[in-house]
Amino acid sequence: MHRSEITIDLGAVRRNVRRLRSVLDRTELWAVVKADGYGHGAVDVSRAALEAGASALCVVTANEALELRGTFPDTRILCMGPLEAGEVAASRDANVEIAVVGREIPEGLRAHLKVDTGMGRFGMGEVVSPTRDVVGLMSHLATADAFAQRQLERFAELTAPYRGRLVCHIASSAAALRIPEARYDAARCGIALYGLSPSAEDPAADGLEPVLRWTSRLAQVKLLRVGESTGYGRRFVAQQPTWIGLVPVGYADGFRRDLTGTEVLVDGERRKVVGTISMDSFAVELERELPVGTPVTLLGDGVRAEAHAEVAGTINYEIVAGLTSDPRRAVRKVVEA
Ligand SMILES: *Cc1c(COP(=O)(O)O)cnc(C)c1O
Repeated sequence: MHRSEITIDLGAVRRNVRRLRSVLDRTELWAVVKADGYGHGAVDVSRAALEAGASALCVVTANEALELRGTFPDTRILCMGPLEAGEVAASRDANVEIAVVGREIPEGLRAHLKVDTGMGRFGMGEVVSPTRDVVGLMSHLATADAFAQRQLERFAELTAPYRGRLVCHIASSAAALRIPEARYDAARCGIALYGLSPSAEDPAADGLEPVLRWTSRLAQVKLLRVGESTGYGRRFVAQQPTWIGLVPVGYADGFRRDLTGTEVLVDGERRKVVGTISMDSFAVELERELPVGTPVTLLGDGVRAEAHAEVAGTINYEIVAGLTSDPRRAVRKVVEA
């Protein structure tokens, strides 16, 4: 029996892409599949997203771009992170487009100039006479609130002379869904493709459907007597006789140490994670004795990454990007539901 199983539903990817496209209207949807598709598998997600109408793929490293090029020979691929000197030739040969933040554009590579409209990360403050290698102007929003409006005004000024000639793009998922004037020629959507909320809410409110399910089983069930504890540091001590189940998934699998207190499904019912999460296992509090092998759902079927993120004091992005689909620890299945 496997310790845990990660199931990726490409049908859900397609439905999320269609949902985004209907919101975006004539704006192109570019699928952001960096970090192995936010832990979902970049190649599988890319294929489904492209088939459902996404028109480009965005990643951060040259290696990510080159891997995708092997599978998608004709697709526009944008590498949004800086290239290392040694990566220029291979990227050019593979027809990968790059985001450029300084005045130097590597010879022969099609470039999107990244302008800093207020994110305070990489980017230039003005558009300097684009050469013929420049095909796009891009920026990135730091928020989806009032500050975004200021960034958008700045982007509008910077891009005005180039509209229609260069492809202009600034929106990621949050702005694509909520700020119509951020849509421009293309929106670079990541988190929404995976059916997760860009703003910690229930993704269903945006018509999105989580793509990933993560399941395991009870590997051991035992009764703690009063005063007995489970896990390192005795963070959970039974105040009354308490049944607990041990699940063979831990922080080395991406079930983080700060998820103590979150809920998972045990045989379809919500149960609390108790005690310290170990590298390879964690405990859930049960209401009664259950057989070894009882199914446990860590994500999916209503167990939301947003809820885990709230317990862990982080965002859903970090929860899914941190999952380990190392085949020596977990089985990964791709389905079309
Ligand atoms: C990761 C990333 C995105 C995608 O953001 P989401 O919030 O996941 O949609 C878009 N643009 C850039 C530059 C990024 O780094």
